[in-house]
Amino acid sequence: VSQNEKVIAGLSCARVLEMLSDYLDGELAALDRARLEEHLRACEGCTRFASELRATVRALRASLRENPSLPTGLAERLRRALEEDEAGR
Ligand SMILES: [Zn+2]
Repeated sequence: VSQNEKVIAGLSCARVLEMLSDYLDGELAALDRARLEEHLRACEGCTRFASELRATVRALRASLRENPSLPTGLAERLRRALEEDEAGR
């Protein structure tokens, strides 16, 4: 789909997807966060992906709280799986 080639607020959709997990963690700099939010307001695809990722992150956090011994690479593997899923559409 051409969705990944859109550039809004100076950010491509691909870049937004890369930044989303930091965004959801509150780790983005204020300027990046403002641009990402501007992109999300104008981009339905990224908004939908962000809400799916937010739900996933929330579930992952809950499971990490219950299972503190989960491998630290899990979040990274999960994000990669999500990206592959997105790229396959
Ligand atoms: Zn987008």
